[in-house]
Amino acid sequence: MKKSIIIKYGELTTKKDNISFFIKTLRDNITLSLSDINHNLTFDKGRMFIETENFEDVVNVLTTTFGIHEINIAYALDTSSIEEICSYLLELLKNKTFKSFKVITKRSDKSYPLTSIEISKELGGLILGNNKELKVDIHNPELYINVEIRSKKTYIYFEKIKGLGGYPVGTLGKGMLMLSGGIDSPVAGYLAMKRGIRLECIYFESPPHTSEAAKNKVLALAKELSAYSGYLKVHVVNFTEVQETIYKNIPHDYMITIMRRIMYRISEKLATKNNAKALINGESVGQVASQTLTSMAVINEVVKIPVLRPLACFDKSEIITLSKKIQTYDISILPYEDCCTIFVPDHPVINPKSDVAGAYENLIDVDLLIRNALKSIKTIKITNQNQDFENIL
Ligand code: ATP
Ligand code: MG
Repeated sequence: MKKSIIIKYGELTTKKDNISFFIKTLRDNITLSLSDINHNLTFDKGRMFIETENFEDVVNVLTTTFGIHEINIAYALDTSSIEEICSYLLELLKNKTFKSFKVITKRSDKSYPLTSIEISKELGGLILGNNKELKVDIHNPELYINVEIRSKKTYIYFEKIKGLGGYPVGTLGKGMLMLSGGIDSPVAGYLAMKRGIRLECIYFESPPHTSEAAKNKVLALAKELSAYSGYLKVHVVNFTEVQETIYKNIPHDYMITIMRRIMYRISEKLATKNNAKALINGESVGQVASQTLTSMAVINEVVKIPVLRPLACFDKSEIITLSKKIQTYDISILPYEDCCTIFVPDHPVINPKSDVAGAYENLIDVDLLIRNALKSIKTIKITNQNQDFENIL
Protein backbone atom coordinates (compact mmCIF):
# COMPACT_ATOMS: atom_id res chain seq x y z
CA MET A 1 0.00 0.00 0.00
CA LYS A 2 1.32 3.48 -0.85
CA LYS A 3 2.45 5.65 2.03
CA SER A 4 2.41 9.40 2.28
CA ILE A 5 3.45 11.97 4.88
CA ILE A 6 0.74 14.37 6.01
CA ILE A 7 1.75 17.72 7.48
CA LYS A 8 -0.73 19.67 9.57
CA TYR A 9 -0.10 23.36 9.92
CA GLY A 10 0.30 24.91 13.34
CA GLU A 11 -0.69 28.36 14.45
CA LEU A 12 -0.66 29.68 10.92
CA THR A 13 -4.23 28.56 10.40
CA THR A 14 -5.28 31.51 12.59
CA LYS A 15 -3.74 34.02 10.16
CA LYS A 16 -6.75 34.24 7.90
CA ASP A 17 -5.70 37.16 5.73
CA ASN A 18 -2.30 35.92 4.69
CA ILE A 19 -2.66 32.19 5.12
CA SER A 20 -1.49 31.42 1.58
CA PHE A 21 1.70 33.42 2.19
CA PHE A 22 2.34 31.40 5.35
CA ILE A 23 1.70 28.10 3.58
CA LYS A 24 3.87 28.99 0.58
CA THR A 25 6.71 30.06 2.88
CA LEU A 26 6.42 26.76 4.74
CA ARG A 27 6.48 24.89 1.44
CA ASP A 28 9.58 26.83 0.29
CA ASN A 29 11.34 26.16 3.60
CA ILE A 30 10.58 22.45 3.44
CA THR A 31 11.60 22.22 -0.22
CA LEU A 32 14.93 23.90 0.56
CA SER A 33 15.63 21.61 3.51
CA LEU A 34 14.69 18.54 1.45
CA SER A 35 16.76 19.56 -1.57
CA ASP A 36 19.00 16.49 -1.18
CA ILE A 37 16.14 14.03 -0.73
CA ASN A 38 13.94 12.72 -3.53
CA HIS A 39 10.34 13.70 -2.78
CA ASN A 40 7.11 15.05 -4.20
CA LEU A 41 5.23 17.74 -2.26
CA THR A 42 1.64 18.89 -2.79
CA PHE A 43 -0.49 21.12 -0.59
CA ASP A 44 -3.83 22.71 -0.03
CA LYS A 45 -5.25 25.08 2.58
CA GLY A 46 -5.48 22.43 5.26
CA ARG A 47 -2.63 20.01 4.69
CA MET A 48 0.65 19.33 2.95
CA PHE A 49 1.46 15.89 1.53
CA ILE A 50 4.88 14.44 0.79
CA GLU A 51 5.56 11.27 -1.13
CA THR A 52 9.02 9.80 -0.77
CA GLU A 53 10.97 6.58 -0.43
CA ASN A 54 12.97 8.05 2.41
CA PHE A 55 10.51 8.53 5.27
CA GLU A 56 13.03 8.66 8.07
CA ASP A 57 15.16 11.48 6.63
CA VAL A 58 12.10 13.49 5.59
CA VAL A 59 10.54 13.19 9.04
CA ASN A 60 13.85 14.25 10.61
CA VAL A 61 13.77 17.43 8.53
CA LEU A 62 10.11 18.08 9.28
CA THR A 63 10.61 17.78 13.03
CA THR A 64 13.08 20.69 12.84
CA THR A 65 10.82 22.89 10.72
CA PHE A 66 8.76 25.65 12.35
CA GLY A 67 5.12 26.08 11.34
CA ILE A 68 4.27 22.38 11.57
CA HIS A 69 1.83 21.23 14.21
CA GLU A 70 1.74 17.53 13.46
CA ILE A 71 3.22 14.94 11.11
CA ASN A 72 1.56 11.64 10.20
CA ILE A 73 2.87 8.78 8.15
CA ALA A 74 -0.30 7.64 6.43
CA TYR A 75 -1.42 4.87 4.11
CA ALA A 76 -2.81 6.56 1.02
CA LEU A 77 -5.73 4.92 -0.81
CA ASP A 78 -7.01 6.01 -4.21
CA THR A 79 -10.62 5.66 -3.16
CA SER A 80 -13.24 7.18 -0.90
CA SER A 81 -15.65 4.25 -1.00
CA ILE A 82 -16.44 3.10 2.50
CA GLU A 83 -16.32 -0.60 1.56
CA GLU A 84 -12.88 -0.27 0.00
CA ILE A 85 -11.58 1.81 2.91
CA CYS A 86 -12.81 -0.85 5.26
CA SER A 87 -11.18 -3.76 3.46
CA TYR A 88 -7.84 -1.89 3.38
CA LEU A 89 -8.25 -1.03 7.03
CA LEU A 90 -8.89 -4.64 8.05
CA GLU A 91 -5.77 -5.62 6.11
CA LEU A 92 -3.70 -3.01 7.98
CA LEU A 93 -5.10 -4.00 11.37
CA LYS A 94 -3.93 -7.61 10.89
CA ASN A 95 -0.41 -6.50 11.87
CA LYS A 96 -1.49 -4.70 15.04
CA THR A 97 -2.13 -6.03 18.51
CA PHE A 98 -4.75 -4.09 20.46
CA LYS A 99 -7.88 -4.75 22.44
CA SER A 100 -9.68 -1.41 22.25
CA PHE A 101 -9.83 1.25 19.57
CA LYS A 102 -11.48 4.44 18.47
CA VAL A 103 -12.03 5.57 14.88
CA ILE A 104 -11.63 9.31 14.26
CA THR A 105 -12.75 10.46 10.83
CA LYS A 106 -12.27 13.78 9.08
CA ARG A 107 -13.65 14.53 5.64
CA SER A 108 -12.68 17.61 3.68
CA ASP A 109 -15.21 16.73 0.99
CA LYS A 110 -18.43 18.01 2.52
CA SER A 111 -20.52 16.59 -0.33
CA TYR A 112 -19.62 13.10 0.86
CA PRO A 113 -22.87 11.18 1.59
CA LEU A 114 -21.97 10.37 5.23
CA THR A 115 -20.92 12.71 8.06
CA SER A 116 -17.63 12.11 9.87
CA ILE A 117 -19.41 10.57 12.85
CA GLU A 118 -21.43 8.26 10.61
CA ILE A 119 -18.26 7.10 8.84
CA SER A 120 -16.53 6.41 12.17
CA LYS A 121 -19.54 4.42 13.38
CA GLU A 122 -19.75 2.45 10.16
CA LEU A 123 -16.02 1.60 10.14
CA GLY A 124 -16.09 0.82 13.88
CA GLY A 125 -19.02 -1.54 13.35
CA LEU A 126 -17.26 -3.34 10.51
CA ILE A 127 -14.08 -3.76 12.59
CA LEU A 128 -16.08 -5.15 15.52
CA GLY A 129 -17.97 -7.46 13.16
CA ASN A 130 -14.66 -8.84 11.96
CA ASN A 131 -13.24 -9.47 15.44
CA LYS A 132 -15.65 -10.06 18.30
CA GLU A 133 -12.94 -9.68 20.96
CA LEU A 134 -12.32 -6.03 20.27
CA LYS A 135 -14.16 -3.18 21.91
CA VAL A 136 -14.59 0.51 21.26
CA ASP A 137 -13.21 2.85 23.92
CA ILE A 138 -13.77 6.50 23.12
CA HIS A 139 -11.85 7.85 26.13
CA ASN A 140 -8.71 5.76 26.39
CA PRO A 141 -8.35 3.41 23.43
CA GLU A 142 -5.21 1.35 22.85
CA LEU A 143 -5.32 2.22 19.18
CA TYR A 144 -6.48 5.42 17.51
CA ILE A 145 -7.54 4.78 13.92
CA ASN A 146 -7.46 8.06 12.03
CA VAL A 147 -9.21 8.25 8.68
CA GLU A 148 -9.10 11.35 6.50
CA ILE A 149 -11.31 11.36 3.42
CA ARG A 150 -10.38 13.91 0.81
CA SER A 151 -11.89 14.30 -2.68
CA LYS A 152 -10.39 11.24 -4.39
CA LYS A 153 -8.03 9.93 -1.76
CA THR A 154 -8.30 8.53 1.72
CA TYR A 155 -5.53 8.53 4.29
CA ILE A 156 -5.31 6.14 7.23
CA TYR A 157 -2.82 6.59 10.05
CA PHE A 158 -2.34 5.40 13.60
CA GLU A 159 0.36 7.64 15.06
CA LYS A 160 0.97 11.34 15.44
CA ILE A 161 4.41 12.92 15.47
CA LYS A 162 4.48 16.30 17.21
CA GLY A 163 5.86 19.18 15.16
CA LEU A 164 7.74 22.17 16.58
CA GLY A 165 4.81 24.57 16.15
CA GLY A 166 5.54 28.27 15.71
CA TYR A 167 5.46 30.16 12.41
CA PRO A 168 7.39 29.29 9.23
CA VAL A 169 10.80 30.99 9.29
CA GLY A 170 10.66 34.15 7.18
CA THR A 171 6.97 34.90 7.57
CA LEU A 172 7.68 37.58 10.15
CA GLY A 173 10.65 39.16 8.37
CA LYS A 174 14.28 39.24 9.35
CA GLY A 175 16.15 39.87 12.62
CA MET A 176 19.84 40.33 13.46
CA LEU A 177 20.92 37.88 16.20
CA MET A 178 23.89 38.94 18.32
CA LEU A 179 25.51 35.51 18.48
CA SER A 180 28.29 34.83 20.96
CA GLY A 181 29.83 31.49 21.86
CA GLY A 182 27.80 31.33 25.09
CA ILE A 183 24.78 29.30 26.08
CA ASP A 184 22.14 32.03 25.87
CA SER A 185 22.29 33.59 22.43
CA PRO A 186 21.74 30.40 20.35
CA VAL A 187 18.65 29.66 22.45
CA ALA A 188 17.43 33.23 21.92
CA GLY A 189 17.92 32.72 18.18
CA TYR A 190 15.97 29.47 18.24
CA LEU A 191 13.03 31.14 20.00
CA ALA A 192 13.06 34.06 17.55
CA MET A 193 13.01 31.65 14.61
CA LYS A 194 10.07 29.89 16.22
CA ARG A 195 8.12 33.13 15.88
CA GLY A 196 8.82 33.15 12.15
CA ILE A 197 11.85 35.45 12.14
CA ARG A 198 14.60 34.68 9.63
CA LEU A 199 17.96 35.24 11.30
CA GLU A 200 21.19 36.78 10.24
CA CYS A 201 23.89 36.65 12.90
CA ILE A 202 26.49 39.16 13.98
CA TYR A 203 29.54 37.96 15.89
CA PHE A 204 32.20 40.27 17.38
CA GLU A 205 35.71 38.81 17.51
CA SER A 206 38.87 40.36 18.86
CA PRO A 207 41.91 38.65 17.38
CA PRO A 208 44.52 38.00 18.70
CA HIS A 209 42.75 38.20 22.09
CA THR A 210 40.21 35.71 20.83
CA SER A 211 41.22 32.64 18.86
CA GLU A 212 40.19 31.11 15.55
CA ALA A 213 38.78 28.25 17.62
CA ALA A 214 36.43 30.69 19.41
CA LYS A 215 35.15 31.86 16.03
CA ASN A 216 34.71 28.27 14.82
CA LYS A 217 32.69 27.57 17.93
CA VAL A 218 30.29 30.38 17.01
CA LEU A 219 30.09 29.07 13.43
CA ALA A 220 29.36 25.57 14.78
CA LEU A 221 26.52 27.05 16.84
CA ALA A 222 25.21 28.81 13.73
CA LYS A 223 25.33 25.51 11.90
CA GLU A 224 23.13 23.88 14.56
CA LEU A 225 20.69 26.80 14.30
CA SER A 226 20.66 26.53 10.50
CA ALA A 227 18.90 23.16 10.87
CA TYR A 228 15.78 25.18 11.68
CA SER A 229 15.99 27.55 8.76
CA GLY A 230 17.89 25.84 5.93
CA TYR A 231 20.72 28.36 6.00
CA LEU A 232 22.10 31.26 8.03
CA LYS A 233 24.44 34.14 7.38
CA VAL A 234 27.04 35.04 10.00
CA HIS A 235 28.64 38.50 9.82
CA VAL A 236 31.98 38.46 11.63
CA VAL A 237 33.05 41.88 12.91
CA ASN A 238 36.61 42.67 13.90
CA PHE A 239 36.12 44.27 17.32
CA THR A 240 39.77 44.46 18.41
CA GLU A 241 40.21 48.19 17.81
CA VAL A 242 37.05 48.96 19.78
CA GLN A 243 38.05 46.73 22.70
CA GLU A 244 41.61 48.04 22.90
CA THR A 245 40.54 51.68 22.60
CA ILE A 246 38.00 51.25 25.40
CA TYR A 247 40.51 49.37 27.55
CA LYS A 248 43.06 52.19 27.23
CA ASN A 249 40.74 55.21 27.53
CA ILE A 250 37.62 54.42 29.55
CA PRO A 251 37.45 53.94 33.34
CA HIS A 252 37.19 50.21 33.78
CA ASP A 253 33.90 50.11 35.68
CA TYR A 254 32.20 51.54 32.54
CA MET A 255 34.15 49.42 30.06
CA ILE A 256 31.36 46.86 29.51
CA THR A 257 28.64 49.50 29.32
CA ILE A 258 30.47 51.40 26.57
CA MET A 259 31.52 48.23 24.78
CA ARG A 260 27.94 47.03 24.63
CA ARG A 261 26.66 50.43 23.50
CA ILE A 262 29.08 50.22 20.59
CA MET A 263 28.10 46.61 19.85
CA TYR A 264 24.46 47.72 19.72
CA ARG A 265 25.23 50.62 17.38
CA ILE A 266 27.21 48.42 14.98
CA SER A 267 24.49 45.76 15.07
CA GLU A 268 21.80 48.35 14.34
CA LYS A 269 23.73 49.71 11.34
CA LEU A 270 24.28 46.23 9.92
CA ALA A 271 20.64 45.30 10.56
CA THR A 272 19.38 48.36 8.71
CA LYS A 273 21.71 47.68 5.79
CA ASN A 274 20.42 44.10 5.53
CA ASN A 275 16.75 44.92 6.03
CA ALA A 276 16.54 43.29 9.46
CA LYS A 277 13.82 44.89 11.57
CA ALA A 278 15.02 44.01 15.06
CA LEU A 279 18.10 43.02 17.05
CA ILE A 280 17.87 39.79 19.02
CA ASN A 281 20.17 38.83 21.86
CA GLY A 282 20.51 36.43 24.77
CA GLU A 283 20.23 38.97 27.58
CA SER A 284 18.40 37.80 30.68
CA VAL A 285 17.42 40.22 33.43
CA GLY A 286 19.81 40.12 36.35
CA GLN A 287 22.25 37.60 34.84
CA VAL A 288 25.31 39.88 34.89
CA ALA A 289 26.04 43.56 35.67
CA SER A 290 25.24 44.64 32.11
CA GLN A 291 21.82 43.01 32.39
CA THR A 292 20.30 44.95 35.28
CA LEU A 293 17.32 47.00 34.11
CA THR A 294 19.35 50.19 34.59
CA SER A 295 22.25 48.81 32.54
CA MET A 296 19.94 47.55 29.83
CA ALA A 297 18.28 50.98 29.60
CA VAL A 298 21.60 52.84 29.33
CA ILE A 299 22.86 50.39 26.71
CA ASN A 300 19.61 50.26 24.75
CA GLU A 301 19.22 54.04 24.52
CA VAL A 302 21.87 54.40 21.79
CA VAL A 303 19.75 52.57 19.18
CA LYS A 304 16.28 53.09 17.72
CA ILE A 305 15.76 49.58 16.34
CA PRO A 306 13.60 47.26 18.51
CA VAL A 307 15.67 44.83 20.59
CA LEU A 308 14.09 41.43 21.24
CA ARG A 309 15.30 39.52 24.27
CA PRO A 310 13.54 36.16 24.11
CA LEU A 311 15.26 35.02 27.34
CA ALA A 312 14.66 38.19 29.35
CA CYS A 313 12.66 36.38 32.03
CA PHE A 314 14.10 32.86 31.80
CA ASP A 315 16.12 31.24 34.60
CA LYS A 316 19.56 29.96 33.57
CA SER A 317 18.41 26.40 34.28
CA GLU A 318 15.49 26.83 31.87
CA ILE A 319 17.87 28.19 29.23
CA ILE A 320 20.23 25.24 29.71
CA THR A 321 17.35 22.76 29.33
CA LEU A 322 16.40 24.40 26.03
CA SER A 323 19.99 24.53 24.80
CA LYS A 324 20.32 20.78 25.41
CA LYS A 325 17.09 20.20 23.52
CA ILE A 326 18.32 22.13 20.49
CA GLN A 327 21.78 20.54 20.75
CA THR A 328 23.78 23.71 21.17
CA TYR A 329 24.73 23.11 24.81
CA ASP A 330 27.72 20.82 24.20
CA ILE A 331 29.20 23.34 21.78
CA SER A 332 28.47 26.34 24.02
CA ILE A 333 30.33 24.87 26.99
CA LEU A 334 33.57 24.39 25.03
CA PRO A 335 36.19 26.49 26.80
CA TYR A 336 37.28 29.06 24.17
CA GLU A 337 37.44 32.66 25.33
CA ASP A 338 35.00 35.22 24.00
CA CYS A 339 35.97 38.85 23.40
CA CYS A 340 33.83 39.93 26.34
CA THR A 341 35.37 37.58 28.86
CA ILE A 342 38.91 38.82 28.19
CA PHE A 343 38.11 42.46 28.81
CA VAL A 344 35.90 41.92 31.86
CA PRO A 345 36.75 44.40 34.65
CA ASP A 346 36.77 43.35 38.32
CA HIS A 347 33.93 45.69 39.29
CA PRO A 348 31.63 46.55 36.40
CA VAL A 349 29.07 49.25 37.20
CA ILE A 350 25.65 47.81 38.07
CA ASN A 351 23.70 51.06 37.83
CA PRO A 352 25.43 53.06 35.07
CA LYS A 353 24.34 56.61 34.34
CA SER A 354 23.47 57.72 30.87
CA ASP A 355 25.26 61.10 31.10
CA VAL A 356 28.40 59.49 32.51
CA ALA A 357 28.43 56.90 29.69
CA GLY A 358 27.98 59.73 27.15
CA ALA A 359 30.81 61.77 28.72
CA TYR A 360 33.17 58.78 28.65
CA GLU A 361 32.33 58.14 25.01
CA ASN A 362 33.50 61.66 24.24
CA LEU A 363 36.99 60.48 25.21
CA ILE A 364 37.12 58.24 22.14
CA ASP A 365 36.09 58.56 18.48
CA VAL A 366 33.01 56.32 18.54
CA ASP A 367 31.96 57.10 14.95
CA LEU A 368 35.35 56.20 13.53
CA LEU A 369 35.47 52.96 15.53
CA ILE A 370 32.03 52.01 14.21
CA ARG A 371 32.99 52.84 10.62
CA ASN A 372 36.15 50.75 10.84
CA ALA A 373 34.33 47.84 12.43
CA LEU A 374 31.66 47.89 9.73
CA LYS A 375 34.36 47.90 7.05
CA SER A 376 35.96 44.81 8.63
CA ILE A 377 32.86 42.62 8.34
CA LYS A 378 33.26 39.26 6.64
CA THR A 379 30.11 37.32 5.88
CA ILE A 380 29.92 33.54 5.95
CA LYS A 381 26.94 31.55 4.71
CA ILE A 382 26.26 28.47 6.80
CA THR A 383 24.13 25.49 5.91
CA ASN A 384 23.37 22.41 7.93
CA GLN A 385 25.20 20.29 5.36
CA ASN A 386 28.39 22.30 5.85
CA GLN A 387 30.92 20.08 7.67
CA ASP A 388 33.73 22.61 8.09
CA PHE A 389 33.35 23.43 11.78
CA GLU A 390 32.97 19.93 13.08
CA ASN A 391 36.65 19.40 13.83
CA ILE A 392 36.43 21.72 16.83
CA LEU A 393 34.04 19.40 18.66
P1 ATP B 1 25.50 34.02 26.18
O1 ATP B 1 24.73 35.11 26.86
O2 ATP B 1 25.06 33.76 24.80
O3 ATP B 1 25.65 32.80 27.04
P2 ATP B 1 27.65 35.42 27.06
O4 ATP B 1 27.21 35.05 28.43
O5 ATP B 1 29.07 35.38 26.65
O6 ATP B 1 26.93 34.55 26.03
P3 ATP B 1 26.68 37.95 27.75
O7 ATP B 1 27.85 38.64 28.30
O8 ATP B 1 25.64 37.42 28.67
O9 ATP B 1 27.13 36.83 26.74
O10 ATP B 1 26.06 38.92 26.67
C1 ATP B 1 24.69 39.03 26.46
C2 ATP B 1 24.35 38.90 25.00
O11 ATP B 1 25.11 39.80 24.19
C3 ATP B 1 24.63 37.54 24.42
O12 ATP B 1 23.61 36.64 24.70
C4 ATP B 1 24.74 37.85 22.96
O13 ATP B 1 23.46 38.00 22.39
C5 ATP B 1 25.42 39.21 22.95
N1 ATP B 1 26.88 39.04 22.82
C6 ATP B 1 27.80 38.92 23.78
N2 ATP B 1 29.03 38.75 23.26
C7 ATP B 1 28.90 38.77 21.93
C8 ATP B 1 29.79 38.64 20.80
N3 ATP B 1 31.10 38.45 20.97
N4 ATP B 1 29.27 38.72 19.56
C9 ATP B 1 27.95 38.88 19.37
N5 ATP B 1 27.07 39.01 20.38
C10 ATP B 1 27.52 38.96 21.63
MG1 MG C 1 24.69 35.49 29.02
